Amino acid sequence: MSGSLSLLGPDDPVPFRVTQATAEGPFVLVSDHAGRAVPRTLDRLGVGEGDWERHIAWDIGIHGVGIALSRLLGAELIEQVYSRLVIDCNRAPGHPTSIPDLSDGTEIPGNAGLSEAGRAQREREILHPYHDRIAESLRQRTRPTALIALHSFTPEMKGVKRPWQVGILYHRDKRSAGIMLDLLRQEGDLCVGDNEPYVLTATSDYTVPHHAEGADLPYLEIEIRQDLIADEAGQISWAQRLARLLPLYWNAIS
Ligand SMILES: [Zn+2]
Repeated sequence: MSGSLSLLGPDDPVPFRVTQATAEGPFVLVSDHAGRAVPRTLDRLGVGEGDWERHIAWDIGIHGVGIALSRLLGAELIEQVYSRLVIDCNRAPGHPTSIPDLSDGTEIPGNAGLSEAGRAQREREILHPYHDRIAESLRQRTRPTALIALHSFTPEMKGVKRPWQVGILYHRDKRSAGIMLDLLRQEGDLCVGDNEPYVLTATSDYTVPHHAEGADLPYLEIEIRQDLIADEAGQISWAQRLARLLPLYWNAIS
């Protein structure tokens, strides 16, 4: 073992959770911020229990949406189970904000002054296995495929309220985004964010640039506001809406 103990112990979960496909559809669902597990050795990163309920720890509600959507579409779903505070899996390896020592005003003592070896360990044991699993799924596909990245966003950031219920983020694949933005606007009851609440770039995000844009794979990065999917009813309702719209999107691009 050359002296370096592993980060994940026998009581820690493997870093990704796969829900198998049950139908032959075009979609692979991925969810970078679905979980909030912390390796036992990191001792909750020194963060208080209340902060583990907040959006800084994970994408609130998106696990329920992802599971329900996977079931409705019969699509494979790959979720990261560790908290974004341990390592943000939508950031490239080595990215300066991927292991934050401050997140939306909350200090993360367990990340302060993290050594290069400590960073490398989190990348090796949590970030890479998750992305390797996504890559493996995409490599094994024999049908035309779209990557669907599922996220949720906090309704208020630094005192500013966000009006959108849902946003589509994109960089190079403007065609997919344009179709889905139109479909969402046609719903009639939604304020739809066009590259809001964030603009997707080659460096701000990792999952879509790395797996989709690099391979010319069509994709959608979908952000749902967290207050709408805080409970199971909201999660099911949004999964049903997406399960109705995603096939329309696919018909339009294929
Ligand atoms: Zn997210």
